[in-house]
Amino acid sequence: MQPNLQDPVTVLSGVGPKRVTALKELGIETIADLLYYFPFRYEDLKVKELADVADQEKVTLKGVVVADPVISRFGPHRNRLNVRLLINHAVIRVTFFNQPYLKDKFTTGTEIAVYGKWDAKRKSLTGMKVLAVQNEDHPSYEPIYSVSKKIRQGTLVKLIQEAYKRYQGLLVDLVPSNVRSHYRLMNEQEMVQGMHFPKSLEEAQAARRTAIFREFFLFQLRLQTLKNSNDRPENGVALEYDNDALKKFIKTFPFELTNAQKRVVNEICRDMRRPQHMNRLLQGDVGSGKTIVAAIALFATVTAGYQAALMAPTEILAEQHYNKLAKLFAPLHVSVSLLTGSLRTQDKRQALADLRSGRTNIVIGTHALIQEDVDFKRLGLAIIDEQHRFGVNQRRILREKGQKPDILTMTATPIPRTLAITAYGEMDVSTIDEMPAGRLPIQTTWIRSNQVQNALQFVRQQLEAGQQVFVITPLIAESETLDLKTAEQIYDQMNAVFGNDFKVALLHGQMKDDEKNAIMADFAADRVQLLVATTVVEVGVDVPNANVMLIFDADRFGLAQLHQLRGRVGRGKEQAYCILIADPKNQTAIERMTIMTETTSGFTLAQKDLELRGAGDVFGDRQSGLPAFKIGDPVADINSLQVAQLEVQKLFEADPDLREQEHWPLAHYLDVQKLRQPSFD
Ligand code: ADP
Ligand code: MG
Repeated sequence: MQPNLQDPVTVLSGVGPKRVTALKELGIETIADLLYYFPFRYEDLKVKELADVADQEKVTLKGVVVADPVISRFGPHRNRLNVRLLINHAVIRVTFFNQPYLKDKFTTGTEIAVYGKWDAKRKSLTGMKVLAVQNEDHPSYEPIYSVSKKIRQGTLVKLIQEAYKRYQGLLVDLVPSNVRSHYRLMNEQEMVQGMHFPKSLEEAQAARRTAIFREFFLFQLRLQTLKNSNDRPENGVALEYDNDALKKFIKTFPFELTNAQKRVVNEICRDMRRPQHMNRLLQGDVGSGKTIVAAIALFATVTAGYQAALMAPTEILAEQHYNKLAKLFAPLHVSVSLLTGSLRTQDKRQALADLRSGRTNIVIGTHALIQEDVDFKRLGLAIIDEQHRFGVNQRRILREKGQKPDILTMTATPIPRTLAITAYGEMDVSTIDEMPAGRLPIQTTWIRSNQVQNALQFVRQQLEAGQQVFVITPLIAESETLDLKTAEQIYDQMNAVFGNDFKVALLHGQMKDDEKNAIMADFAADRVQLLVATTVVEVGVDVPNANVMLIFDADRFGLAQLHQLRGRVGRGKEQAYCILIADPKNQTAIERMTIMTETTSGFTLAQKDLELRGAGDVFGDRQSGLPAFKIGDPVADINSLQVAQLEVQKLFEADPDLREQEHWPLAHYLDVQKLRQPSFD
């Protein structure tokens, strides 16, 4: 058999079923996986002069063994090996714990090098490794890989060495040579070698720079391929909507659209009319008026003779959207229906039949919309609210429900500009960057828990003035049961304080959906004045008469989440207030509380969040829906990412179908990733 980079790791010596499993857990199944499994750092094994070594530094020292090593035992199974080394004119002690077998490596009078941690006061080195006295081919930088308990560094290194020896000739250059030479990047083989077996720190750094660029380049290649395929006319629908009807519809609103709303409506409508597939993201801060924009797009679709769907992440939200939109569309003879998991069987059957027959024009729903039994007559547009709460797959299923309907996703979680390039992937972006006129910014204050009484006093005043209040209960890390317990305690507390004069209710995530809906309906209708809630109210809930929010243990929430929560108030004409109760212990938590009191802009907060948490955390957050990179950091390496984007654009301009011989490997790469449309010529 011809060797191939896709060969399984079992072709290497010593890889049996056990190792296969261990490697698989690291994501390594093939030779290619192994060769591209890069170290995350290097240990400097170069021998240093004693005088240059700092206390507690990890370092390699070289000296002559003064006397045979001594092994002493202490406790069962524990022992230490001591040996003295002469370095220039000083004698130091080297200690290894629980590695008595190293004894044979030390022979009196010979020279040896030991890597370990230096204790300056005791003049001793806690040994970590015995190295052969350095010769030419001994690496002076040892790569450190992330490994598991089941596989050791040494094993991994051996496997990589063997794989490299046998397969290096098969490594193919993906980044074209003109790009590589322009940015002084290594070729594929130099890069793989430099990452695993660098002869100098410079070589390791150059290899890493290449690897980062390569990762971003391939990412952009996938992204732009997807985008190009969306741009093919045969892949979408042209929604020939009725412009006059649309204008009339907009005139019926009790307010004028903001300029930003007008702009994004134009962007969306232009996309819908084109035969290409629309894949657009609508982002705008909480309360910026995305829902009405969605309504316009839904209506436009109906006037073009198609059905439209709006998918929300929770039943509460779906129901809320439904109530609003049904009212809005009632005079227009547009039929709007609701499809959620908690519909009664009979109602559900009817709803499904109406979708199939085309009697329903607009359907609002939850995940229920992407179940198998849902068929549309002619789906033209699907809108997805709070897109980061749905996985990519769910979006894809919705897209496949029609003949490639246009897709509009909406989010109130802005992503800092520096990340937009990666986060938004293949989507086009429309941004509402302006609030409806006359909105008063929410006044946010931060108090300590010993000032709660004052806050409750304030809450009473507001309740007496006819306002409604949210009380958000603390988030107990990872435990829904504890969350609920604390929520119930706070509910009891609030009931004790306000229960005589006002109706207090509790809303939490473990309630059944119809229970939740009933409570939300009571709150929306002012039958409940004070709502104690967990984060279930985080997104979208719109009760304009609620203008005070009290958040207990606010420092347990992330900035993005606090911003979302706070967005539940300040939706009416009254001045709104958000009171954060927190006794933060660390500096970043203090900063987070302070920032919340200083800004109400979601974009500013997102940027701060990034600065405080770092890209790793923001990106690591699975909810964020952002792609994870193996070595590149889209914030720290933003320049590389931008250059990669530009170079891929140029590449596609020059050779859209990747026909040039040098681009064949790229075409093959995309085929393997199943990203290319089969071509028929
Ligand atoms: P989002 O979904 O972006 O959080 P909404 O669409 O729920 O925001 O809008 C928040 C509130 O502002 C709603 O009550 C909506 O009716 C109102 N609104 C929307 N657009 C305007 C506008 N241009 N002028 C005044 N009020 C508006
Ligand atoms: Mg279109």
